[in-house]
Amino acid sequence: MCEGTDLWYKNGLRFNCTGCGKCCGGVPGYVWVTEQEMLAIAQYLNITVELLKRLYIRQRDNRYALIERPKYNYDCIFLKDKKCSIYPVRPIQCKTFPWWEYNLKSKDSWQAAAQNCEGINAEAPLVTCLEIVQQLKLRKLEDDHGGQFSGER
Ligand code: SF4
Repeated sequence: MCEGTDLWYKNGLRFNCTGCGKCCGGVPGYVWVTEQEMLAIAQYLNITVELLKRLYIRQRDNRYALIERPKYNYDCIFLKDKKCSIYPVRPIQCKTFPWWEYNLKSKDSWQAAAQNCEGINAEAPLVTCLEIVQQLKLRKLEDDHGGQFSGER
């Protein structure tokens, strides 16, 4: 899939999440969630979707996003002790970080992402181009089904 392309990351990129939690806050933004993702989170927390929406979700136009805490570094509402408290059911937007088109536009974009993500470093394991493309596709699929990722962190 990557052979014969001119993708700048065709030889793969180095990344390993350390779980530092920096990508879960720091700047204002939106972590978009679909109805399906909200259902999964509600089930994980053992609450109704209605209660989840009331406590943890904000609406912008016809889209839903996780609440963030402006007074606390814009951290995601689900960030507890620098860890994601809904990790197994976190939204695709989170699952696919840092493999976002925005970060993969160019080497410079990738280097810029590395400024805020310690998991992107020369010692980290190599993630193949194929794996990267799969992550991009996963996110695109979600996007096409209403995730509508834009203006994210
Ligand atoms: S900033 Fe990078 S290393 Fe830290 S939790 Fe997020 S993805 Fe993992």
